[in-house]
Amino acid sequence: MTTSATDASTAGVSPIYSLDSRWNSERPHILVMACSDGRLQQNLDEFLATHLNITRYDRVYAPGGPGVLTSHGIEFLRSDQFRRECDFLIRAHAIEEVILVFHGPSADGPAEATCADYGRIYPRMTPQEIRHQQEVDAAEIVQSGFGHRTSDLRISVFRCEATAAGGIQFVRLPGR
Ligand SMILES: [Zn+2]
Repeated sequence: MTTSATDASTAGVSPIYSLDSRWNSERPHILVMACSDGRLQQNLDEFLATHLNITRYDRVYAPGGPGVLTSHGIEFLRSDQFRRECDFLIRAHAIEEVILVFHGPSADGPAEATCADYGRIYPRMTPQEIRHQQEVDAAEIVQSGFGHRTSDLRISVFRCEATAAGGIQFVRLPGR
């Protein structure tokens, strides 16, 4: 007796967990780009849900967050790759708004909150200088846009900041 490809691929595989909620095929048309840093994720989810009312979104999480879209001199291949990934999502998923989230300490926040990827690329910069670099990078991304969608795409930019008092705050950087 032969086994079909379908039988073979499902043999011995049974669900270990099922959700009560239903599959929603509608695309959210929002892309959030943020750093992979796990210290950030719950804060970001809360901000998106409570301040922006966004709970469903495409996401690109990578070390450095939106910073991967800027060339940083030696990082050109990386930025080019991420730009192409984002351009694909924007086209294929009909993205209408991109939300870019940098992170780090507030002006008087703890240095350890600095984005590790920015620390890797700019090892001699102070946390204050990295904050400034993120603002330069944000302006570059907003200016250059994404592939063919440079005019009708909304781009919002934020930074998630750890404060000296141990709190979390989000600030808005210039977008469009
Ligand atoms: Zn980071």
